[in-house]
Amino acid sequence: MSLLINIKEIQENKSGQVKGQFLISPQELDLPEPKDIWRPLKFDFTCTNAGDLYVLTGKIRSSTAHQCSRCLAPVEIPLEVDVHEEFSRLANQADEDIHCFYGDNIDIAEVLRENVILSLPAKILCSPDCRGLCPHCGADLNQVSCDCKPQSGDPRLAVLEKLISK
Ligand SMILES: [Zn+2]
Ligand SMILES: [Zn+2]
Repeated sequence: MSLLINIKEIQENKSGQVKGQFLISPQELDLPEPKDIWRPLKFDFTCTNAGDLYVLTGKIRSSTAHQCSRCLAPVEIPLEVDVHEEFSRLANQADEDIHCFYGDNIDIAEVLRENVILSLPAKILCSPDCRGLCPHCGADLNQVSCDCKPQSGDPRLAVLEKLISK
């Protein structure tokens, strides 16, 4: 996997910029399992010669496909990530904020991969007030209401009551 920005044109030119766009497949970024959630990605970028550093800014746009964690309906979530990364040929290994590169090309695949993975939402719902599935009959409570009785009380309390009655 390599996505390269060639900085040869701007390396003698402080505040010189390279701009462009990458169209990237999920395979190119080696995005993790489950593979079927990923969609093609677009990355619009500007790479600026800032003297000691090259500063990469831009925006990743894509979306990811999931299931609602309550009702299992398919949910497509837009993915938009603002990228700001710094690169240097002289980067110290100990400085984790600045990425090292060699030669005339900056390989941005690894930083894009990290930015994308960190932007995944932790909890996925089709809507904030999704009512989910009935735990007894499996009916989708967003669509229908079922006749199952609501569970009496909090199950954790029920355990306590059992203990107390012993
Ligand atoms: Zn839902
Ligand atoms: Zn039910």
